[in-house]
Amino acid sequence: HVVVFGSINMDLVAKTPRLPRPGETLTGHSFSTVPGGKGANQAVAIARLDIPTVMIGRVGNDRFGQELLQSLQSAKIQIEDILVDDSVSSGVALIAVDDEGENTIVVIPSANGRVNESDVERLSSHLTGADSLLLQLEIPIAAVKAAAQAAKKSGVRVILDPAPARSDLPIELYPLIDILTPNEGEAEQLVGFPIESPALVAEAATILQQRGVKTVVIKLGAKGGFCATPDEAFFFPAFQVAAIDTVAAGDAFNGGLAAALAAGKPLREAMTWGAAAGALATTKPGAQSSLPDRATLITFLEQ
Ligand code: ADP
Repeated sequence: HVVVFGSINMDLVAKTPRLPRPGETLTGHSFSTVPGGKGANQAVAIARLDIPTVMIGRVGNDRFGQELLQSLQSAKIQIEDILVDDSVSSGVALIAVDDEGENTIVVIPSANGRVNESDVERLSSHLTGADSLLLQLEIPIAAVKAAAQAAKKSGVRVILDPAPARSDLPIELYPLIDILTPNEGEAEQLVGFPIESPALVAEAATILQQRGVKTVVIKLGAKGGFCATPDEAFFFPAFQVAAIDTVAAGDAFNGGLAAALAAGKPLREAMTWGAAAGALATTKPGAQSSLPDRATLITFLEQ
């Protein structure tokens, strides 16, 4: 099984003709609430690929919290150790998307912001026999570090998606990470220079490995990605698809990667699974709604 320790959000999505200016009120086209949060998205991505998945995190004791738990449960994710925190509301993201597909996003962490070392105690029992622990950066960094330490101690592979982007990842975190999976912008933030050429992509990966990460996977959108292990380094291509909405492509990639590794596939094949899941996610609108199931992924790979 795979364990995800991270954020659970309700996304409040407004479709608008254009994005409002400061102080402006404008009339939108439509509104919807959809489950999100990078942690929950990655958990759903893995569970859709038929790998048993445990989610650890927090929601508030409110209507969104109940809906979020139900939605995770219907995706067959183990939710028993998600804490319903009475003192705070559920995490939300206020998202406006205009006719050009441009967006603005305000994330209010709420329950996600309260995840701490005490949540790692609930995590620990699930680490026994786990293949990987997936982490992202939408919960406090101290909790991320404590979770990575616990996984390391249990001999469980740690996969960290350093998203949303930040430049100040604590240096002691790097040696705890088996696979670091930044996208282009996140990699640039971490190393502090633009990665405009293949040589600079490779250099960025080397720098991150020198900080102590074992394997670095840099996700490059429609250009595919780059993988550097202690033994080899290679670019891998993207699948050619008609992309309509790249939301959650990165989460789909991480889900595909973790699912492949949990199924015992070698790393190169896991890159292919990640790239296929990422590509498929761009062909459908939304976040969790766009994540492929196992049959879809296998059929796509056989084409
Ligand atoms: P993020 O969503 O975190 O920004 P990327 O945009 O790099 O991450 O997407 C993650 C992965 O999904 C890529 O490495 C690639 O394999 C796949 N992918 C993303 N966009 C496309 C696209 N337009 N066409 C094909 N594959 C894509």
